[in-house]
Amino acid sequence: MEQRTIAAIATAMSPGGISVIRISGPEAFEVADRVFRSKKAGKRLCEQETHTIHYGYIFRNEEMIDEVLVLLMRGPKSYTAEDTVEIDCHGGVLVTKRILETVLENGASPADPGEFTKRAFLNGRIDLSRAEAVMDLIQAKNEFARKNAVSQLNGKLYFKIKDFRDMILDGAAQIEAALDDPEQISLEGFCEKLDQDLDGICIGLDEMLADADNGRMLAEGIRTVILGRPNAGKSSLLNLLAGQERAIVTEIAGTTRDTLEEQILLGGIGFRLVDTAGIRSTEDIVEKIGVSKAMEQAENADLILYVVDGSMPLDENDEQIIGMIQDKKAVVLLNKSDLPLYISEEELKEKTGKKVITVSAKEFTGFKRLENVLCEMFLHREVQYNDEVWITNIRQKENLRHARESLQLVRESISQNMPEDFLTIDLMNAYMELGYILGEEVEDDMVDRVFSKFCMGK
Ligand code: GDP
Ligand code: ZN
Repeated sequence: MEQRTIAAIATAMSPGGISVIRISGPEAFEVADRVFRSKKAGKRLCEQETHTIHYGYIFRNEEMIDEVLVLLMRGPKSYTAEDTVEIDCHGGVLVTKRILETVLENGASPADPGEFTKRAFLNGRIDLSRAEAVMDLIQAKNEFARKNAVSQLNGKLYFKIKDFRDMILDGAAQIEAALDDPEQISLEGFCEKLDQDLDGICIGLDEMLADADNGRMLAEGIRTVILGRPNAGKSSLLNLLAGQERAIVTEIAGTTRDTLEEQILLGGIGFRLVDTAGIRSTEDIVEKIGVSKAMEQAENADLILYVVDGSMPLDENDEQIIGMIQDKKAVVLLNKSDLPLYISEEELKEKTGKKVITVSAKEFTGFKRLENVLCEMFLHREVQYNDEVWITNIRQKENLRHARESLQLVRESISQNMPEDFLTIDLMNAYMELGYILGEEVEDDMVDRVFSKFCMGK
């Protein structure tokens, strides 16, 4: 099938210094020649060296659209591994659109979102883990996410998975060979050796899986829900952490009706803070919606910040919250410590079984300690940005888990002295599952799904 030549605006659609229109495919150079006129008369882009830059104008019929620089990259040395032309134009939105239209009128078709990166993948220049890293990099919201994406883009995940796969394939190949030629090749001691190798791989996979949740939280932000009875100081705390007046702080109990969300960074880690209506038993309908929402939000939180109003005795709302947070990751904030306290940090710790930090949202005290405790909780082992790959992607995590299960089956078969040919099926299943992470033999619609999440022009 003849590949289409595709084109799209590769830069953001807002006025800027320059914009880039990217053209990729077998006819990229011809299309560019139809719309471009060089300063030097008669110069044709098709005849120019690869990786050169040319100055001239874009013409739509006889109308000059813009003054541009054109970059030529012949495949396979380009982002897509195809012939690629990039037109740098003056950055106006209208100008950029006109140039794209002109390019489309002259033989290119509009690119789908992510199609350039998809082609890089389909043309074998990058594997799927690296293609996904491109998207992660674009969407990175904090330093952790950015560094992790770059590391994956450099093939860190690719090489790690590839090593595991090579070992698995070696094992399967040895079994096949021995079964084909039992007189020449013996499987004496083979199963012990294979079991050892698989043990090593399983440990590696377990580490990656254990880090996956941390990786996701670090990349997307730790979903943090602030709970506490009305007037405990939840909104004050949220505002303080977020550094702005975002939630409504009032003296009337129950004014925070809806939930608010705020992205913050503490010690380099991203937190997604959610403020909820105060939890309390009430007949008020509006308030009730807020309360059930708070419960719901807390159910799937990564972390709960439970705010206690220390200037008053604990009430039945507090008892309810304490019961609810028992099996959750939670930190208790003993707030209003500028006022005389009804309960001490020690007593509250005893009662909740959680870490308690005395703070005052009014006087900004105790927050450095909060930051330290949170960082410690989530970075129990130092994040080594560039040495480890963190799986942050649900698809990849599923594949890892399936591979791990198949290897476990192989090891069980070994311990039950099953015949060797029995092992190959599960070995090859693990091999395939790991292959999916790299995009080997994945179904077309899976590939489409991955790339449809990309932005236009990438
Ligand atoms: P929420 O209902 O839990 O969101 O509580 P708010 O943040 O709206 O605070 C309720 C009231 O308590 C407001 O009048 C705040 O100014 C006050 N407040 C919050 N934190 C403190 C604190 O640390 N000390 C004192 N003295 N008052 C506080
Ligand atoms: Zn509030």
